[in-house]
Amino acid sequence: MTGVNQIRKTFLDFFGKNGHSVVESSPLVPRNDPTLMFANSGMVQFKNVFTGVERRPYSTATTAQKCVRAGGKHNDLDNVGYTARHHTFFEMLGNFSFGDYFKDRAIELAWNLITKEYELPVSRLLVTVFSEDDEAFGLWKKIAGLPDSKIIRIPTSDNFWRMGDTGPCGPCSEIFYDHGDKIWGGPPGSAEADGDRFIEIWNLVFMQYEEQAGGIRTNLPRPSIDTGMGLERISAVLQGTHDNYEIDLMRALIGASAVETGVEPDGAQKVSHRVIADHLRASSFLVADGVLPSNEGRGYVLRRIMRRAMRHASLLGAKDPLMHKLVPTLVREMGQAYPELVRAEALITETLKLEETRFRKTLERGLTILDTESAGLSEGATFSGETAFTLYDTYGFPLDLTQDALRPRGIVVDTGAFDAAMQLQKQKARAAWAGSGEAATDTVWFSVKEKTGATEFLGYDTETAEGQI
Ligand code: ATP
Ligand code: MG
Ligand code: MG
Ligand code: MG
Repeated sequence: MTGVNQIRKTFLDFFGKNGHSVVESSPLVPRNDPTLMFANSGMVQFKNVFTGVERRPYSTATTAQKCVRAGGKHNDLDNVGYTARHHTFFEMLGNFSFGDYFKDRAIELAWNLITKEYELPVSRLLVTVFSEDDEAFGLWKKIAGLPDSKIIRIPTSDNFWRMGDTGPCGPCSEIFYDHGDKIWGGPPGSAEADGDRFIEIWNLVFMQYEEQAGGIRTNLPRPSIDTGMGLERISAVLQGTHDNYEIDLMRALIGASAVETGVEPDGAQKVSHRVIADHLRASSFLVADGVLPSNEGRGYVLRRIMRRAMRHASLLGAKDPLMHKLVPTLVREMGQAYPELVRAEALITETLKLEETRFRKTLERGLTILDTESAGLSEGATFSGETAFTLYDTYGFPLDLTQDALRPRGIVVDTGAFDAAMQLQKQKARAAWAGSGEAATDTVWFSVKEKTGATEFLGYDTETAEGQI
């Protein structure tokens, strides 16, 4: 079996051999980009190169980029444990052309890699193109020899990429792998599409236009290429599974969680092991890149991820902090590719242990309240937003932890009432503060607090440059 580390290497070597500079992953916290919470695709570190603001000594590059999608427009947090293909932290393999080669070469390189290096069976592959992109349709036919039925035209924005409201944009083409009809799901573009049968493995973006304010589109003088392939997804395919959580790397983490808790890895509680394995990676990599749990901004996203995993540790019956005990396995599996994990191992261990020790003090009492208050509710019912707020405020339960706990039973939280309770508390705090005689600073402080937000991070929504490809 080919392991994840080898699959990553094959990708980088292939593009290296084809003239691309092998560039390191940028940190998860984007440098000089306050508009974006975390790096969420390979192109993030090259944004200014694509727009021409920055120059690099190479015109083509390849990377394995650390990505976190836990917030904003690309929030896959709620998918973890529920789909076979989503993580909060994952690696995106990519190749980039900055005004160098374009569509034909990008398609040729992608096709050669997957069919010759990775040796995927052609019969299992199909692609989508943007409905108006006749050129891409023709190239897939010519270069890959795919029949018309396996080149699906998609008219939606899923197949048209934009960096922001203005700037570079263009059609994209997604490569799918058909895992076979024993697995649920329909072909891309169909009503049943969002299953696990046809899994998107690679996305090629053809940046060919520049959009000005008012929607005026002109051709870019030197069109560019930006691609992204999920390492865990291609690994699943190469390891003969449709499920990312079955690949060697995830199995090692799930195995460690099973050993430490004494709960079998594939039994009734397998979702908890999966959430723990996924969130362990996200938490550890975020700490290694300098994020620490807090009540605001990036730190609060980290805290939410950590605490959610910690509830699942408790579901598995862990009596003591669990997460930090899994760090050595992660470092063993990924430390060679990401030396920052080795360097930060002690900090990661201590941070996880401290957060879990703290949270455990209120976790059990909070869970009792959650159980009692939801006991009478059946599927389709709504859980009180006020209680969810008490759980947040007094017991340190992030809202999405409560939602995650109720979701398997089909119960939703009244988020309107939750937000109202939050507003009310802010007003009270403001009034109390005003009464303290320090009125001069309070409005400033509260507006800052509201901007960064304890539950809603406006930072996401102000994202101007979308990292998605
Ligand atoms: P999907 O439609 O499956 O959510 P996407 O279109 O949002 O994927 P892109 O933004 O195109 O994904 O990212 C490029 C590639 O990164 C995808 O083709 C996929 O292989 C991988 N990828 C995206 N999101 C995730 C995730 N949450 N976990 C693991 N891999 C991912
Ligand atoms: Mg997605
Ligand atoms: Mg997609
Ligand atoms: Mg995509």
